[in-house]
Amino acid sequence: MTEDTTAFPPLHEYALAHRCPTCGAEPGAHCEAPRKQAGIESRNRIRERIGQPPVQANPLHLMHVTRGDAGNRHYGRDLAAAPWPEDREPGRRYDTLGRA
Ligand SMILES: [Zn+2]
Repeated sequence: MTEDTTAFPPLHEYALAHRCPTCGAEPGAHCEAPRKQAGIESRNRIRERIGQPPVQANPLHLMHVTRGDAGNRHYGRDLAAAPWPEDREPGRRYDTLGRA
């Protein structure tokens, strides 16, 4: 049996739904993380120089770790409250984002 990926949103959406404990970014707003952004831009400049296509950053890597942790804990609570995968309705979401 394959995991139903519609049951829960991706982890970066969980993280984005929380206020960032590190930089104070509001829920839904991106982190103020210029060094993280600069690191990705610098890596892509190097890739461009050697003829490689730019990499798309994982949205979680542009957020502060503390915010990712808050998202992970929220996901863990939702997962614990949801029925077992075999008892879930196909296509239904079991997250509490937007209602938390
Ligand atoms: Zn942040």
